[in-house]
Amino acid sequence: MTAEHPARDTPPPTGRVVVVGSANVDLVVPVPRHPAGGETVLGGSLARHPGGKGANQAVAAARAGGADTSFIGALGSDESGDLLRESLESAGVDTALVTRVPEPTGTALITVSADGENAIVVAPGANSRVEVGPGQSERIAQADVVLAQLEIPLEAVTAAAAARREGARFVLNAAPSRELPDHLWSEIDVLVVNEHEASDLACDDAEPDELARALASRGPSVVITLGGQGSVVVEGGRDPVHVSAFPVDPVDTTGAGDTFCGVLAAALAGGSALVDAVRVAAAAGALATTAAGAQASVPSASAVAELLRGT
Ligand code: ADP
Repeated sequence: MTAEHPARDTPPPTGRVVVVGSANVDLVVPVPRHPAGGETVLGGSLARHPGGKGANQAVAAARAGGADTSFIGALGSDESGDLLRESLESAGVDTALVTRVPEPTGTALITVSADGENAIVVAPGANSRVEVGPGQSERIAQADVVLAQLEIPLEAVTAAAAARREGARFVLNAAPSRELPDHLWSEIDVLVVNEHEASDLACDDAEPDELARALASRGPSVVITLGGQGSVVVEGGRDPVHVSAFPVDPVDTTGAGDTFCGVLAAALAGGSALVDAVRVAAAAGALATTAAGAQASVPSASAVAELLRGT
């Protein structure tokens, strides 16, 4: 066995991922039905979970993707901030560059109706204070992959992309969707969106293949996730490649997209080609649907490897 010919089960090399994004505490109440304006509805027991796209993706990159992962974000100096920090750290995420600010930690108020539909209000709080300062820029410059979403100020996203070193990749999960300035488009190496976000960004209701081509024509490689239908990948001017979903029995799809993004970033940082990284991310995303919650449903790296081996 030589270094050039590693055993099949040798784990991929560990890369460095920096996630720049939001952290929210999710306050979840089951309700018989969502209240109408002016109405009060009596709900069930309140649950409090760590969430936010940035924190979820950092947990996924570290736990399911096995990457050396740092999170850059902002938390309030409150109990919710402590909950988020503990959740990130217990997944192995470095939180040294997370700032604590004099604003409440971002909070999502979620009611879940008896038929499983969510209604969500987000108070961004500390997330609106995320900044990329000199310390954060230094850490970003050491990363192989920088991963961001759009729940923080666009200035921070742009600064994160600009701080990466030559050869490092900037992966943007453009969620929630919003119009992107031209200078940001030119920085994106890999764009990850679901079908709704792809339609919003492309201002078009076309089929996923066409949406992926349209978005790729603006510069980046594009991954459109399609839930249980898998995903579509377009690189350069090439034809779309379809990556199947792994068949599972989903119980809660919350966090599948975030798990997918975090693991995709980890696999790219470890040196995988994009389509191979999407396959690993799809395995992790599938497993995330088989357990409840966002960060709590992120699978272990060994569970992901087992699912990949079994097919
Ligand atoms: P989002 O939550 O952002 O809308 P998706 O629902 O498209 O994201 O899910 C992201 C990825 O997670 C999918 O591309 C797929 O690989 C995996 N996934 C999601 N739902 C399922 C499912 N029901 N069965 C298998 N894999 C799934």
